[in-house]
Amino acid sequence: MKTEQTLDNNNTPQTIRIGVLGFGGLGQAAARVIAPKREMILVAAADKGGYAYSVEGLDVQASIKAYQSQGSVGYLEPAGTISNNSIEDLLASNHPVDGYFLALPNLPNDFIASVTKQFIQSGWRGVLVDAIKRTSAVEQLLAMKAELQSAGITYMSGCGATPGLLTAAAAIAAQSYAEIHQVKITFGVGIANWEAYRATIREDIAHMPGYTVDSARTMTDEEVEALLDKTNGVLTLENMEHADDVMLELAGICDRDRVIVGGVVDTRNPKKPLSTNVQITGRTFEGKISTHTFTLGDETSMAANVCGPAFGYLKAGVKLHQQGIHGLFTAAEIMPLFVK
Ligand code: NAD
Repeated sequence: MKTEQTLDNNNTPQTIRIGVLGFGGLGQAAARVIAPKREMILVAAADKGGYAYSVEGLDVQASIKAYQSQGSVGYLEPAGTISNNSIEDLLASNHPVDGYFLALPNLPNDFIASVTKQFIQSGWRGVLVDAIKRTSAVEQLLAMKAELQSAGITYMSGCGATPGLLTAAAAIAAQSYAEIHQVKITFGVGIANWEAYRATIREDIAHMPGYTVDSARTMTDEEVEALLDKTNGVLTLENMEHADDVMLELAGICDRDRVIVGGVVDTRNPKKPLSTNVQITGRTFEGKISTHTFTLGDETSMAANVCGPAFGYLKAGVKLHQQGIHGLFTAAEIMPLFVK
């Protein structure tokens, strides 16, 4: 239980009450990221089989144990509730939650948009943050901007690693140039086994030639394993449909066709197959062509680079929400705030 409270700029006591929807690889990592924070407290978590809520804060270790040993946080005693409509039921319970991190699979490609509609319809007001990846998925949320605004929701979209941290780095690096020629994101991900991040891996497979979001979604675990056996556990992805492009275009930095995203994912080795980086090439006001490169430390995991920024943007979203600023924002237009 966390009792310590921090003071915001108006000297108002404030601890941001967080819910995490989806309690797989990223959801559990998100819970572990929040655990030592003073400014945030994890009060709610939901997965496909249930949800858990505690006004005093969920016991993170016990929540992870319930999920891993029994299949759902709904089994957590005494905070858990078993449910096949966990998100709807959690919202209907009207527990006070200031912001949710949507660590949900976006399978099908409109799943997160449909969850957002549930939030709007429920009358809940607060901050939502996602780590959504596809351009077409962010576009669905952009189309809901006015609805989010009138519902009193501040939605921060594309706030993981890519899109997210790397898109924001590109937006900052762009400031040296008068014209941006190319933004090239190359990510390396190493995970010990694909089952810890099933949705992430299925969504990555959906970018491979011959696959679609729907065909990847309906693949059985055995089919995923058979594919990974053929590639030695490595997925190589090129010219991906990644929302970094629409986010940088909306932020006025460059046209979307100047943004290129690709990467290599090793599902059998936690060591990154290459260093994740973003290269921003442009022309300065003096006419020089140059490239800035921002490279993530190899020791930082995908989970660290997704969950840290997601909560940084959630904190920024809370500040906007308190100022009465609602609607939809992306990682390329708002600075994340560091969560203490
Ligand atoms: P996962 O498969 O490990 O876990 C998904 C979780 O969602 C599970 O707990 C499952 O029970 C829950 N869930 C599924 N359907 C649900 C429903 N209807 N109601 C409630 N809960 C439900 O997923 P993951 O690998 O942690 O990935 C989560 C998301 O994060 C994916 O969409 C992935 O693309 C995204 N991601 C983004 C980035 C980035 O940099 N932007 C990086 C990695 C992953």
